[in-house]
Amino acid sequence: MLTKSLHRGVLLTLTLLVFLLLAACGPKSSGSIVEGKVNVVTTFYPIYEFASEIGGEDVNAINLLPVGVEPHDWTPRSQDIISTSKAQLFLYNGAGLEGWVPNFLKSLDNDSKVQSVEVSKGVDLIMTDEEDGHDHGGEGAGEAEGHTDSLHTDPHTWVSPKSAFIMAKNIKESLQSVDPAHKEGYEERFNKLAERLEALDSKFTAELSKLPNHEIVVSHQAFAYLARDYGLKQHAIMGLSADAEPRSQDLLALADLVKKEGIRYIFFEELVSDKLAKTLAGEAGVSTMVLNPVEGLTEAQDKNGDNYFTLMEKNLQNLILALQ
Ligand SMILES: [Zn+2]
Repeated sequence: MLTKSLHRGVLLTLTLLVFLLLAACGPKSSGSIVEGKVNVVTTFYPIYEFASEIGGEDVNAINLLPVGVEPHDWTPRSQDIISTSKAQLFLYNGAGLEGWVPNFLKSLDNDSKVQSVEVSKGVDLIMTDEEDGHDHGGEGAGEAEGHTDSLHTDPHTWVSPKSAFIMAKNIKESLQSVDPAHKEGYEERFNKLAERLEALDSKFTAELSKLPNHEIVVSHQAFAYLARDYGLKQHAIMGLSADAEPRSQDLLALADLVKKEGIRYIFFEELVSDKLAKTLAGEAGVSTMVLNPVEGLTEAQDKNGDNYFTLMEKNLQNLILALQ
């Protein structure tokens, strides 16, 4: 039989064990609110990574989007409303990525003190005639004028290290505003992240400007910011959303372009099917290669410790191979 103090000791050990086990599970995928920290809810991976880096020990970051899921068609669950209501900060990309945000914010608890911040603010946004796969009808010369009212914001700001820098700065400022007591820590950790982003930016500029070719064919239209900032020209099989279906005449036109320009690789990405990229590559007689829009990690990348920097570095290496 246990004495009272021994019993208490066992209880304490058990509590500690549970606590350690919970801590060991890590903050990846949807975490939960931690008292005594600044709880920051993020909508998808790159914002989660930057908020975790800049937040350091002062922040508990919770990413709404689970590992292995791409963000375009994802919507939050009721549990996400509960945890976001209890958080101090809600960081979303904006620029049209998360169409569910306005309703989500309205559904938060009335007494919630969470501040919401659109992280892409200040980025020079790209407008595009979204090729969403619906039949717009009419081909040829007059088409462009007829589409002026269907312009959409391209949400893929983070794919360029230049705009990722602006986003990281917005994240730092929002953390400093909700938690001014730890202002200096946020500044220091931001400076380290900013240095890495600037180094990545310089490397992209230096390496890509050396290459003779600049035309890339990608599965989904996620690389306009990268293309603008580093002198590439993007041709997309699908539209802004990763699962939009292309029209067959667009596929044929792309196959012609690939042959005419001597393009050697069609880029695809891991979080969505590579079927169309493979079809186009087969049609044009070329190979496929990965270009990652860093919208999320796959299970394997998560286990492997991949992050924005390792994935962007792989992107650069693949662009060098494809464009030389
Ligand atoms: Zn996308």
